[in-house]
Amino acid sequence: MNHTPLQNVRGLILDIDGVFYHADKPIPGADEALAEIRRRNIPFRLLTNITRRRPATIAAYLQALGYDFSPDEILTASTITAGYLRQRPGRPRCWVLLEGDALDLFQGLELGEEDPDYVVLGDLREKFTYDLLNRVLAALWRGARFLAMQADSHDIGLGGGPKVNLGAWAALLERASGRQALLIGKPSPLAFQAALEELGLPPSQVAMVGDRVASDVVGGWQAGLRTVLLRTGHFREQDLAGAPEPDLILDSLAELPAYLPEG
Ligand SMILES: [Mg+2]
Repeated sequence: MNHTPLQNVRGLILDIDGVFYHADKPIPGADEALAEIRRRNIPFRLLTNITRRRPATIAAYLQALGYDFSPDEILTASTITAGYLRQRPGRPRCWVLLEGDALDLFQGLELGEEDPDYVVLGDLREKFTYDLLNRVLAALWRGARFLAMQADSHDIGLGGGPKVNLGAWAALLERASGRQALLIGKPSPLAFQAALEELGLPPSQVAMVGDRVASDVVGGWQAGLRTVLLRTGHFREQDLAGAPEPDLILDSLAELPAYLPEG
């Protein structure tokens, strides 16, 4: 084993998009790295800011790309948001702005747009209309609490250039309302706490591995984790300026096992 800042690491939190795949294609060598992590019995959770898809749907998608994951190994910004809302006392009414099958995760909560206690901002893509934004603004003005499932400002996926992501809509609504959203997904400590609780490990023994400086490195660092930045997916050199320095920067997940304890 190399001398490594990861030598005390007992568990991993792995981002998904940009780590295992990018633009619908698997990242070369990531499958072998995963097999090696499993062979060494290093516990891990996948932690993603994806909001629209359920863990089971993400697992099926990853299966098609050649990766074997149980939905139980996947934490998304929406599973963590739904868990957070379930823990609130008094059955608050929640206006969940989200499309996709991840809406199922919110079943059992008091849902609706009328006089909500919580406005819960997820990904609605092109459904974010001027009218909808104004209705959200009105609810915030009436005093609803404001949750944002994640804060990624943009997305680079298949063709057509960069896309506005929900962090940018949240920022717009913060500006318009003069209110700050409570952030749930990475880089919020709530997201890392949820993963650490499942791993049953303290932050000092866990490394966060991801491709985005703003969500994976900054968030992992703030939560007290070791951080590993990968030069795949959404990695951009310029994002490192002014950010905490990652413990390791690797060309891809394929390089990670060389830096992990033998187990
Ligand atoms: Mg990513």
